[in-house]
Amino acid sequence: MAPGDYQSTSNSLPPIHRLAGLGLLLGLLSYSALLLNLRTGGITILWPSNGLLLTVLLLTRRRQWPAYIGVAYAVDLLINLSLANPLGISAYLAGCNMVEVLVAASLLYRVMAPVPDLTRRRQLVYFLAFGVILAPAIAAFLASLTLQRFFTTAMVHTFRLWWRADALGISTVTPLCLSMGTQKLSRDKLLKLLPPLVLLCAVTSWVFWQTDVPFGFLVLPCLILLGIRGGLAGSSLGLLAVSVIGGFLTSWGHGPTQLMREHSLEHRIAALQFFIAISMLSVYLLELVMAESRRLQKDLASSEARFRLLAETSRDIIVLTDLDGGRRYVSPAVTELLGWTPDELVGGTYREIVHPDDIPEWKAMLEECRSGCAANTLQYRCKKKDGGYLWMESNLRLYSDPAAGKPDGFVNVVRDISGRKAAEEDLEKAFRLVESLASLDGLTEIANRRRLDQVLEHAWRVAIRAGSRFSLLLIDVDHFKAYNDIHGHLAGDDCLRRIARVTSEMVSRPSDLVARYGGEEFAVVLPDTPQPGAHKVAERIRAAIEALAMPHGGNPHGVVTVSIGCATCTPEPDMQIGGLIESADSALYRAKAGGRNAVVCAQSEAFEPQDSTRS
Ligand code: GH3
Ligand code: MG
Ligand code: MG
Repeated sequence: MAPGDYQSTSNSLPPIHRLAGLGLLLGLLSYSALLLNLRTGGITILWPSNGLLLTVLLLTRRRQWPAYIGVAYAVDLLINLSLANPLGISAYLAGCNMVEVLVAASLLYRVMAPVPDLTRRRQLVYFLAFGVILAPAIAAFLASLTLQRFFTTAMVHTFRLWWRADALGISTVTPLCLSMGTQKLSRDKLLKLLPPLVLLCAVTSWVFWQTDVPFGFLVLPCLILLGIRGGLAGSSLGLLAVSVIGGFLTSWGHGPTQLMREHSLEHRIAALQFFIAISMLSVYLLELVMAESRRLQKDLASSEARFRLLAETSRDIIVLTDLDGGRRYVSPAVTELLGWTPDELVGGTYREIVHPDDIPEWKAMLEECRSGCAANTLQYRCKKKDGGYLWMESNLRLYSDPAAGKPDGFVNVVRDISGRKAAEEDLEKAFRLVESLASLDGLTEIANRRRLDQVLEHAWRVAIRAGSRFSLLLIDVDHFKAYNDIHGHLAGDDCLRRIARVTSEMVSRPSDLVARYGGEEFAVVLPDTPQPGAHKVAERIRAAIEALAMPHGGNPHGVVTVSIGCATCTPEPDMQIGGLIESADSALYRAKAGGRNAVVCAQSEAFEPQDSTRS
């Protein structure tokens, strides 16, 4: 019966055909055992029916136990009666058998649920302790009470006979029936067991036929072979065969136990039972170890498969390297990202695929990790199979050999960050654009007042440190209000644009700056420029604007002209830039006052105007 069968049955009464089947099987087993004991003078070698009943109870819901126990009790009673025992004794002895099975089943049921599996250490230990030793011992004790002479040799004798036969019956029949009941022993497996079983029967028959040499140990390899082929079911089937053949031949006066010449048949049977018990322990322990190792291998294989799945389905590339960076494993994601196959990269090092400019940083990262830093991150360019490079980010972590406890290599999780890098570059470009827009004047497209202030500030500090001369020009368009009034504002704007362009063309050094100071005023910053040089530049600008010959009806010169104030100084730490601006402004004022279209330089270091005017 499979465990699923009883789980779907909520009835406390099992199907009648099952009850009848069990009764029939129990009867058959009991009669077979009696046949086996035909020539032993009442000594039972092995009592199998309790082993079968115990299996049925272990695979059945507890509420169905009474029905099965009832049937088993009736069969047992009939068997006892057929042996010409009085009714009272028969009823009592059948009761002892039921107590034995109930004690074993009650103690084992919880431990062996939901699926009995005697290849599990805990279940096997409980089975041997409670099912094989304790429960038969209790029943044997109860059975021995029928003699009504307590603690006599006869009682001990009865106890021993009952206990040994029932213990042997349960220890061989229950594992076999459990394997069949839980479908661990399929038809195919049974067929595979046939050849070693035939071999075992042949060897056992020969060993227990001849009486010259105690060749019992020859049975053991056959039992082990059966165990290897059929697991616990194979071992228990083999033990059952050895018990039946050995018991039968021993009781008929054959086999190595005949060498115990001075001993009775009971002693010989006890020796046989002892031999079977020791063989059973050996093969069951072997099976336990093999089953545990099989489970361990299965767990290892599934855990390996799980980790392989993680590594191989990850979009990141997972690389295992030795301590020098030599690759031991590369996950398949590398093909999608870089075009290489894992095999092409295993065995190589970072030197072949990391961009030459990034190799020093890579080396430094490896060194840092080797010297104890748990994890490290690096952004670098990695070579693709087509020769191009891809921005990657490596997360490197040192790992230790669990057995030796020493660093063994690196786990490197590599991620494609080319998208992120491109976005960063776009952002950088956008930032630079915004920054340049913020420092340009919208109308004239030269530096605005904000940029002028920044440059003035910076150039001023440089001049203080260098002790160099520093000049500033302030340019103002003459009669520009009138220009607007006469030619219109749009023409005024255009005029300002042309003045800005020409002024920019008149300064040549990279450190010079032309900026719109405000309205129709411009400023020119001339770092490291003495007064004569500044005056020359100013004059060049003034002349160039006049040479543009932009008609201006409101200007006495008939064309657009500018006035320029020029100031020069050697800045010192306690001086303020504002002083230089004021000085240039007042020079400009004087240029205006002097008739416009002129350059006026303020010459004093202390910004006191000593004008030199040219027009
Ligand atoms: P002065 O020779 O004394 O400098 O006379 P001015 O008319 O140039 O001086 P004022 O400061 O009185 O006038 C400046 C004029 O410049 C006022 C305004 O109409 C004009 N202006 C200032 N900014 C702009 C501009 O962006 N576009 C135009 N079209 N005109 C501007
Ligand atoms: Mg002005
Ligand atoms: Mg003006």
